[in-house]
Amino acid sequence: MTSHTMSNVTALEAQHVLQIYRRQPVVFERGEGARLFDERGQAHLDFVSGIGVASLGHAHAGLARAIADQASTLIHTSNLYFHPLQGELAARLSALTGLERAFFCNSGTESVEACLKFARRYWQGRGSPNRARFVALTHSFHGRTMGALSVTWDDHYRAPFEPLVPGVTFASADDPDGLDQIIDDRTAAVIVEPIQGEGGVRPLSQATATAVAAACKRTGALLIADEVQSGSGRTGRFLYSRTLGLEPDLIALGKALGGGVPIGATMLSSEVARTAAPGDHGTTYGGNLLACRAALVVLDALEGGLLSSIEQRSLRLFDGLRGLASRHPTVIREVRGVGLIAGLDLHADAQPVVAAALERRLLVNRTATTVIRLLPPYIVSDDEIDEAIGILDEVMGVVGRTLKSAGGTE
Ligand code: PLP
Repeated sequence: MTSHTMSNVTALEAQHVLQIYRRQPVVFERGEGARLFDERGQAHLDFVSGIGVASLGHAHAGLARAIADQASTLIHTSNLYFHPLQGELAARLSALTGLERAFFCNSGTESVEACLKFARRYWQGRGSPNRARFVALTHSFHGRTMGALSVTWDDHYRAPFEPLVPGVTFASADDPDGLDQIIDDRTAAVIVEPIQGEGGVRPLSQATATAVAAACKRTGALLIADEVQSGSGRTGRFLYSRTLGLEPDLIALGKALGGGVPIGATMLSSEVARTAAPGDHGTTYGGNLLACRAALVVLDALEGGLLSSIEQRSLRLFDGLRGLASRHPTVIREVRGVGLIAGLDLHADAQPVVAAALERRLLVNRTATTVIRLLPPYIVSDDEIDEAIGILDEVMGVVGRTLKSAGGTE
């Protein structure tokens, strides 16, 4: 690969790439484990992992070998024909999720889109075409295609594209008692993220989860668990919805499932799946051999011990983060998260922390304005966790002093 300078990469992008991303000022050319190397060969500790995607870290030898082998055998045939890997992956996912059938697509938003469509299809198939409404929660993020955007809460994502799909009501994630008034027999489905990622790393409270489950049971509304970010092992369990006692009829998966190869998977109960017929939905790339092969490698790794190692890493991470919060109470308001998804909710905009961490070659990400989100790869080591905490300690000190000299934030 040729080496690129920062200035020629950014100049070319500025001219020809649609300007919809606010990129950090760094160009990455290669990776190894939990490290990314910039165009000058400098290593950065990656606690973003491509927004929760690179579950096995970068340039994982087994994944790279499998992808290369698959690429030199067969990448894609379309869904006009059979190939041996889709059924195999569907069976593995079915065993892991308890839902019988899989629909494969290429991203999280497509996976959510399929959940919404199949929920509508279910009620049409049962002779209740007017049962078409959706209930979503405040602070939700489900993706950016029209359907997924319509159940996404934040106006910042929605406003430029209105009007969206009608019939969506947002219920407060903090008011379990209010759900009973909102979920009724016109509700086709309720969609929840067991842990809201983009919304600021907010695990669904047990009380809200219990109320959602009860309301779905009472009214017959389907339950969709969007586990695009919280699932595929991120919390040390394959799904987080089960930990909350939720029994979804549909589950959206994506991100970490492919280890970096784009894949989305929608899991459906047999009851919902029974109402879908050939031609109802589909996508050209969905479940192609390359994506399925990558996901199978990820599942092998998860079930081969990686999943059970996450709890230990998580203890170390959250010990470190709580230590940070107690040392920097004027900067950090709250520590949230489960497993290897963590959020530091700050008293002020989190962008200066992202920038200061980048200067020290630690990658973290800001979400919901004030939250530093950490999504390290699952293969992160204790030493790497300690290193990240050490850098954040320094950064919080610097940011704390800046806030103090600017007049304090409390
Ligand atoms: N659902 C959740 C919970 C997500 O966190 C995301 C992305 O951040 C999506 C859906 C959309 O996924 P994608 O960006 O792959 O379309």
